[in-house]
Amino acid sequence: MTDIPVDRFSHIPDRISGLVELAYNLWWSWHSSAMLLFKQINRAEWKESGQNPVKMLLETPARFFERAAEDPDYLRRYDLLMCRFRNYMASKNSWFSENYPERLPLTIAYFSSEFGLHPSLPLYAGGLGILAGDHVKECSDLGVPMVAVGFLYAEGYVHQHLEADGWQKNIVELLDRETAPITRVTDEHGRQLVVQVPLIEPPLYVAVWKVQAGRVPLYLLDTHIDENLPENRSISHRLYEKDLEGRLRQELVLGVGGRTVLNTLGVSYSAMHLNEGHSAFALIERLRERVDAGMSFEEAAKQVRNTSIFTTHTPVPAGHDIFPFDLMHRYFGDYAPSLGIDWETFIDLGAAPHDPEAGFNMTAFAFRMTRFHNGVSQKHGEVARQMWQSLWPGVPESLVPIESVTNGVHVPTWLNRRVETLFDTYMDPVCPTWREEHDNPLVWRFIDEIPDEELWNVHLWLKMKLFSRIRERKRRKWSGYRNEPWNLVAEGLMLDATTLTIGFARRFTGYKRADLIFEDLDRLEEIVTNRWRPVQFVFAGKAHPADDRGKDVLKRIYQFAESPEFAGRIAFVENYGQQLARYMVQGVDVWLNTPVPLMEASGTSGMKAALNGVPNLSVLDGWWVEGYNGRNGWAFEGSQPYGENNRADAETVYNIIEKEIAPLYYMRPMDEIPHGWVKVMKESIKSCAWQYSARRMVKEYITRYYPSVCMYAGEPMTGALESCRL
Ligand SMILES: *Cc1c(COP(=O)(O)O)cnc(C)c1O
Repeated sequence: MTDIPVDRFSHIPDRISGLVELAYNLWWSWHSSAMLLFKQINRAEWKESGQNPVKMLLETPARFFERAAEDPDYLRRYDLLMCRFRNYMASKNSWFSENYPERLPLTIAYFSSEFGLHPSLPLYAGGLGILAGDHVKECSDLGVPMVAVGFLYAEGYVHQHLEADGWQKNIVELLDRETAPITRVTDEHGRQLVVQVPLIEPPLYVAVWKVQAGRVPLYLLDTHIDENLPENRSISHRLYEKDLEGRLRQELVLGVGGRTVLNTLGVSYSAMHLNEGHSAFALIERLRERVDAGMSFEEAAKQVRNTSIFTTHTPVPAGHDIFPFDLMHRYFGDYAPSLGIDWETFIDLGAAPHDPEAGFNMTAFAFRMTRFHNGVSQKHGEVARQMWQSLWPGVPESLVPIESVTNGVHVPTWLNRRVETLFDTYMDPVCPTWREEHDNPLVWRFIDEIPDEELWNVHLWLKMKLFSRIRERKRRKWSGYRNEPWNLVAEGLMLDATTLTIGFARRFTGYKRADLIFEDLDRLEEIVTNRWRPVQFVFAGKAHPADDRGKDVLKRIYQFAESPEFAGRIAFVENYGQQLARYMVQGVDVWLNTPVPLMEASGTSGMKAALNGVPNLSVLDGWWVEGYNGRNGWAFEGSQPYGENNRADAETVYNIIEKEIAPLYYMRPMDEIPHGWVKVMKESIKSCAWQYSARRMVKEYITRYYPSVCMYAGEPMTGALESCRL
């Protein structure tokens, strides 16, 4: 059971009390008409709360609601929306149930160490979490039965404050559990459910919370409770502990604890999908239960393998978790016997054949204990087959059973509302089902129905909106830190809406090469200060709080942004997160991506940009290798290995900007509309919106893996399932 604390909302009249139910289901976050209902109650508080409806409802006085409850126009829209919401939640008619009628109880348990669902719930560090959030939302939309498991991080908000010299200061804001859009999961006595992680001494407990994301419940684990020893309370405080033991304890809680929570809740499911290796210990717990019930280890392993899917995201060897044997023994010493195997056999499950002495490798273990595994772009699939070939001795690289399902983004989350309205206007008459069928390429041919002028004007509006947001952030900082005048320039006060604007925003990790364009400063200066065709760059991104190298790169860029040579045409915007990401991918003219080739598994922010008509300029790596078609943006090969030849790549980028991008952008005929440019924008939407949608991605997981998993779960296959048997 979970409880919405309704007594805290007694100031809301019954007539519109459905707002409370709506506030606790993130469904509202991908339906703009739902957001509008909240916003219209109390605009100021909506903004102040960071668009968190729970907080907004709690802090708004009763008279605001009384006013709304007497407004016929508001009530009309409220009734319609609540009807849509309740139909959505109750609906048995989904894409999944139509295609898999016999298969409704096929529930998937989806585990991830991060989930980025909405800015008001900061449980993510970067792309992996946003992807998990998008996956869950799409499964909800398609009606795929799913439960998800993750962490409730107490210190999920790490705000970035840039000092006058560009050094990143981390400001931690504690998550307020009482005003976050989460509910306590309670036991039969009405107390919050607390579960003990099995076989760990001294005992370790987790409390359980729930976020409802449409039809998918996401259970969040929280160790910050009195039952735990003080040193165990901090396990779920922040993402990715640097210290190995801390990290191991987190993964133990997520995997073993998460699995135990689902059992305690009585959630039954046919398959487990692990988003990256952090949660792989869940598989150990599945093994243990079977051995406990009398199965041999081999039999148990076969069953667990056949019903588990593992998605790997990391093409960089150093990115995989490897735990030293002594540490493993401290926590899993009692586990091996309970699995019916000896310690050596247990440890061998996590041995990476290319380096067996390094420790227990979570990725190697996840590959061994799952039958279905995939990388997240075609290129990454190749890289992963090469990297992990040694796990399948004698199998040629091309036949190594690691496939690929290219990532995608949740269209209703990332498509701007104005752009969506434009699609409605021009696509509805010719293709009224475009929303439901947005993963169908034929639908997007109708983009050409939109007059160039209208698409261009919407884009310009979004660009101005981005700049006004940037100024507003800067204004707030200015009023708080008056002694930092240079930052006015560095943080984007001089940005100009008529200038070609290139955006770069992501985590500040070495391989992403955020500072690539600063290789040749004279050349860059020429480009940005060109009299006829100026170019401006907008940067954003956080370094991991413990990554001083990342912070150095950031500082360097910041200092260039402050420097008068670049004339205010380079800006660094503070505090990148899901909200700023939205404005940026929708508001710049070009999305820049310059990682060292083969190090980007997929990348997703470029997909969000493409969907909104912002073309990509990117290294041919990750998704862009398959996404680029010669007409929808710009691409270059990029040099390897890491750290060398940056100069050559920078030259290539300068040349593309100067010789191709800027001339096309500034070519304005008499009507002032850059038709050539709009053509690239349209091509970008047409070729990417369907292909890099989470809908296409989730359907691929379903048709390729989920039915096979259920076949192995011992159920007969019927209907549509037959046709997609592997
Ligand atoms: C989409 C997104 C990412 C992923 O960015 P990449 O281009 O894949 O590096 C990271 N952070 C936020 C906030 C995002 O919205």
